[in-house]
Amino acid sequence: MSYKILDLKFDQNGVRFTINPVVIYDDQEMVLVDCGHPDALPKLEGLMKDEGLDMEDLTKIIITHHDHDHMGALASIIRKYPNVKVMASTIDAPYIEGKEKSLRLVQAESIYDSLPEDQKESAKRFAAYLESIEHTKVDILLNDGDRFDCCGEFEIIATPGHMPGHISIYLPESKTLISGDALVVQKGELEIANPQYSLDIEGTRVSALKLSKLEIDRVVCYHGGLYTGDVHSALIKMANAEN
Ligand SMILES: [Zn+2]
Repeated sequence: MSYKILDLKFDQNGVRFTINPVVIYDDQEMVLVDCGHPDALPKLEGLMKDEGLDMEDLTKIIITHHDHDHMGALASIIRKYPNVKVMASTIDAPYIEGKEKSLRLVQAESIYDSLPEDQKESAKRFAAYLESIEHTKVDILLNDGDRFDCCGEFEIIATPGHMPGHISIYLPESKTLISGDALVVQKGELEIANPQYSLDIEGTRVSALKLSKLEIDRVVCYHGGLYTGDVHSALIKMANAEN
């Protein structure tokens, strides 16, 4: 089993950001974890090619949660590669499939009235953008503790907080955690993702404590990339944070 971290770049309001989808693979299967914004497909194909991988060989996509930067390109990928199976948590599947309204959109709408007038226009644009994200059918529902003997082995760890249905992926062989947005690397430190975007901040601490029970040598964060420091201490610190 191997994995590659992709550096997927995008521009937002003139600023360049990098997000990190991960490809895990062996000689049988290739699994992409999260897939970027709606226009990400050609970039993903190029980045995989740079790593000597071919998107034609992709067999599965895992979506860690239904935020636009994680599932935005999903519909376009499945249109072009219809044999790829979509995997997501049982809790998140109705949002990915469009049966339930995006929780990020619900959050955006709930704060709209309290925003200062000069922020309302951009908030409206953001809400319209969220509404434009295409929905896709989920083929395989994931639950906490599910194990797959594909690409070596990987295990689904439910890590609610950022969103209720959020999952992380644990690769026991290499003691690697693909954290999605359960964790981020900021200025070299492993931390809980921006509290402003965490729908349940107490949940993020409970999830950090849960993750601290695993043997983790490296964490791949969607925002911030690879962290190889003292994961256990960082998680305990997060679990015990006051606010
Ligand atoms: Zn994100």
